[in-house]
Order: sequence, then C-alpha cells, then structure tokens
Amino acid sequence: MNETTALLNIGSLVTNDPELGEGLLGLITDAALVIEEGRVSWVGRSSDVTPTTAVIDLEGRAVLPGFVDSHAHLMFAGDRADEFAARMSGERYAAGGIRRTVAATRAATDEQLAENLWRLAAELRRSGVTTFETKSGYGLTTIDEARALGIASSVTQETTYLGAHVVPAEFEGRPDDYVELVAGAMLDSCAPHSKWIDVFCDRGAFDVDQARTVLLAGVAAGLVPRLHANQLQHGGGVQLAVEVDAASADHCTYLDDLDIEALAASNTVATLLPGAEFSTRSPYPDARRLLDAGATIALATDCNPGSSYTTSMSLMIAIAVRDMRMTPDEAAWSATLGGAKALRRSDIGRLSVGSRADIVSLNAPSHIHLAYRPGVDLIHRVWQAPLTPKVAA
Ligand SMILES: [Zn+2]
Repeated sequence: MNETTALLNIGSLVTNDPELGEGLLGLITDAALVIEEGRVSWVGRSSDVTPTTAVIDLEGRAVLPGFVDSHAHLMFAGDRADEFAARMSGERYAAGGIRRTVAATRAATDEQLAENLWRLAAELRRSGVTTFETKSGYGLTTIDEARALGIASSVTQETTYLGAHVVPAEFEGRPDDYVELVAGAMLDSCAPHSKWIDVFCDRGAFDVDQARTVLLAGVAAGLVPRLHANQLQHGGGVQLAVEVDAASADHCTYLDDLDIEALAASNTVATLLPGAEFSTRSPYPDARRLLDAGATIALATDCNPGSSYTTSMSLMIAIAVRDMRMTPDEAAWSATLGGAKALRRSDIGRLSVGSRADIVSLNAPSHIHLAYRPGVDLIHRVWQAPLTPKVAA
C-alpha cells in the first residue's frame, strides 16, 4: 500500500482522537481516510475528501485502528487441551502446568517454533490484530530463551524476555540460583533480542523481591519492565510494577484500594486479560473500579497454550463489556489505544494524521457490534503498514 489510497464511505470511524470526533473514541460518521506511504495522511468526512487515484468503498462499514495485543505468549510447542478438559471438570489452575509446555518447547526445532509462531501471527492478523507483543518463557535455559526471542524478533519488535516465568524443574528447591541466572548470563544472551523484561510474580512462580531483582537487572541492561501481577491471588506485584515504572501491570485480577490508587496515579497501564479468567473459570478483574479511579486499561489476549489459548481480541471486548462492565466504547479503546499505551507506542492505536496505517474494517456498521455479536467473526479487511515504514513519524 505505497500509493495514495482513500478509504471512502466509512459508516463510523474510530479515530481514538477526541479532537477529531465524538467522545472517547473520536468517532466520525460518514467518514473517509487517506493513506500515503503506510501512514494516515488525512481523516475527515467523506464529503470533504479530495479524490485520489486508488479508492476503496467501505459501503458503510465501521473502521477502527488495528487491535494492539500487548500481551501474548507465542513461543511454544505443543498444547494442553487435556489439562483444559480436566480443569473444566473441576480441577484448579496452578502455574506448574507451564513446565509441560517447557518440555515440549525445549524438544522442538527452530523450524517448529517458527512455524507455530507464524500460524498464531496469521490468526492474530485475521482477527484484526496489527501489532502484537510476544514473550519467551517456555525455554528457561539461556540457549532456549535466547533462541525463542531471536525467532520472535523476526516478526515483531515487541519482544519480551520472560526467563522468570516459573522455576524450571532442574532448579527445584533453588529458586534464588535460578533468579541469579535469569538476572545474569541468561539476560546477557536475551537482551539483544528484547525490548521488554517481565516476571510472573505470583503464587507458584516468583515473589516480589525475586521479581524486583530480575526487573532491575533488565533495566540496567536497557530493557523496559512489565509485570505479571496479582493474577492468582493478592500480592505486592502491582505495587512493584508502579515502583519500577513498569509500562504495564498485567492481569490485575486481585486488587485492593491501594493497588487501584497506585495504578491510577502512575504511568503503568493495567492490562486485563479476560481470556485467562474465561479459560480457567475464575473471577474477572474489576475493570469498572479501575476506570472510575482513573486508571488506564489495556485489553489483551494472553494467548498461551495453558490458560488462554485464543487470538480473538473481539472475544476479549465481548467479555469486557458483558462481564467486566466496560462500555463498548471503553472496551474498543482499551483493545486499540490502551494496548498502544501498554507498549508505550504513540504511532499505533489511533487513526489520526501521521499514525501508522494499521486499520481494520468490520462487516458491521459500528464498533458496538464487536460486543453485541459475540462469537461472530466480523473482521472484513485488515490493512497493515510495513514493519519499517518509509516515512518517519
Ligand atoms: Zn501472560
């Protein structure tokens, strides 16, 4: 899409720029959008657009910024369908199940890992995701973590080093020795392929002091922190995320008033992952309380083979609206600009002049249908600017 292209006859356009249109989403009806060299060059009413050579008639469809999936675990092999079936029969989810995927991932070839990643990346794109983050965390040796991140960095710039996912079996009873490796030699090998550093700070994984050690080592190596926090029980993870100025505290299922106040007063986005609660039949996070306190929320898939094996941002939006009391506008915002903020990106998640031309059209007249028509694939078309745009921001 290098020539100038005009998208015309857009029924409703989510710009996420309140200066361009109505409300939180900056909504424009009967809208048009012009794209040049992978960037948005004009946004407005269809009646005001200057005719260009290439024209696409959207015939009244809704258009949004491409979804930004700011939390996924795509570097793995195998699946755990049997574990899901057992859990749905009454067993409780515990973090230890990750070790099964670790064994399968270590046994996989580079080609198998890459093919699984490409398959999931293609699924994400078909479901309207134009930017996704992915973590390591199923290798848990220096060589396996570094190879996962090397492969991941060939398809996304949003790569996260998650050596501190769980303590691997060979370090059973010696978690501090493993933390030393994660914050030392493993970090040295992984940092060149990573933008972010993350820790699973929760029951059955790493405590707050261990998580702080890993995150600060990552910061010293030039990575930016994000954190799995407060998914399985209340703990100090969210406070740690705010303390280290993490871009995002992810899950946020068990929060007290102090956690909510801390998030609202910080630059740390609360990334909610309702696919995990859905697939583990757990209580959803209290999105309404977070929003009412002034916190910023991102919605993401948490795509992983254990607790949330979905690539559907539309499903996340539907759950957020139905069960987490977010409005359809808030959920659409959190799945686009909220995700961009969780990745500290200003070039995606919105459709205003200069934004990347990452665009989704729906087989529906408005974004409300994403929640109103749950389980229906409404994605009409996905436009994605090249990974390295020709025109600088
Ligand atoms: Zn996760």
